[in-house]
Amino acid sequence: AIPLVVAISTSLSAVHGLLIRNRTAFENARKLTTIIFDKTGTLTKGSHEVQAVMPLTGRFTADELLQYVAAIQQNSEHHIAHGIMRKLKEKNLELWKSDNFNYIQGVGVTGKVKGKEVVAVGPNYFKQENRQQPVIPAEIDQSISTVNFVLIDNEPVGIITLADGIRETAAAAIASLKAMHIKSFLLTGDNEQVAAAVATQLKMDGYLANVLPHEKQQKIKEFQDKGEIVAMTGDGVNDAPALAQADVGIAIGSGTDVAAETADIILVNSDPKDVVQMIAFGKATYRKMV
Ligand code: ADP
Ligand code: MG
Repeated sequence: AIPLVVAISTSLSAVHGLLIRNRTAFENARKLTTIIFDKTGTLTKGSHEVQAVMPLTGRFTADELLQYVAAIQQNSEHHIAHGIMRKLKEKNLELWKSDNFNYIQGVGVTGKVKGKEVVAVGPNYFKQENRQQPVIPAEIDQSISTVNFVLIDNEPVGIITLADGIRETAAAAIASLKAMHIKSFLLTGDNEQVAAAVATQLKMDGYLANVLPHEKQQKIKEFQDKGEIVAMTGDGVNDAPALAQADVGIAIGSGTDVAAETADIILVNSDPKDVVQMIAFGKATYRKMV
């Protein structure tokens, strides 16, 4: 039987923007020592706006690059893909057809457009392929830009930069956790400079960058092996294994279904500050029981 006080709190929690799917995990919330946050779509809005499209060769114009990439990104649910599609529309460019779409988790997308092999990926691609990454022009500030590379028929032909905004309540959430003596870390598949900039701006305890999806779960386990009680907060398909591994898995409401289905608790309003609510609420609930 569910103790009455828990039942009441669980239904009340809906009012506070929390959907509790797993009561045992909710009970662990008051014991948390560390919270790991995914970056894109979790601490940031995931509202990637294209800033620049830069050809690296004379083969394709900026608009053509956008069209090749959009042709494959129309099949992707990633925030980057949505930003690319908005830019294409804004520029009134024709959307081309593609086939052989493939998503390489935490890396990017590939497909065939007008008989050419098109690849749109982040820096992880070059790490995975054990290949030299094209030089990123000095004018690109990597602390605020997500850098995407375009390869056509295996030749790097362009760079697309996108910018994302930090959620308004993220800094307050981290500060409140700190006051509760809970450490916070950033975990992302994005590059080192972006990760460092966000973690510093939000005064987090540290960050882990260039982390591939299967490595995210491993990172959670490493914290647990050190004796930490860990919550993971994420929104993406790529976060699901880490959400399952964590003592408390927390999904952002606006995120993917896979993340929500794997999580113990869902932040209905997609507000990172509700993590703080959740912990306070867990403490209040179980204090009454003992
Ligand atoms: P995060 O861990 O911050 O949520 P992801 O694991 O979803 O980020 O993605 C990691 C990186 O993989 C992105 O920063 C990007 O470089 C690349 N990537 C993922 N999906 C796409 C896509 N659809 N198009 C281009 N690049 C992508
Ligand atoms: Mg994410």
